[in-house]
Amino acid sequence: MDDMKVGKCACGDIEFGFTGEPINTYFCCCLECQKISGSDKILLNAIPVTNFKQLKGSPSTYSRLGKSGNKVTNYFCSNCGLVLYARPHAVEFYGVPVVRLENPEKYQPKMAIHTANVPSWSTLPEGIKCFAGTPHG
Ligand SMILES: [Zn+2]
Ligand SMILES: [Zn+2]
Repeated sequence: MDDMKVGKCACGDIEFGFTGEPINTYFCCCLECQKISGSDKILLNAIPVTNFKQLKGSPSTYSRLGKSGNKVTNYFCSNCGLVLYARPHAVEFYGVPVVRLENPEKYQPKMAIHTANVPSWSTLPEGIKCFAGTPHG
């Protein structure tokens, strides 16, 4: 548990954590993330499934088909309603909103995906890689 970074929902019923470092830190600008965040994008850490641990409580789930046709499962707290993390089933990682973690400032965005969906007023940091869809198309 030494190196465990912990994340939690707003009411504290649910806690999760991971060891090691994220394999990527990226903005997702898809419409689903816009609906969840109430804004133009979410900054996510990609955490390998093998490094991820559910620590407290059991989140509710909601699954949908992503744009690519692959299933995505959102894990959320049924008490406070916050989405804690998501699992795109096509990949071996969880997408964890950076803002759910302690010390969110330590994670800096490296790229942005689904930028074709951003509203016209949206801005992204200079120098990060942007993909209209995903790196896989
Ligand atoms: Zn909660
Ligand atoms: Zn998204």
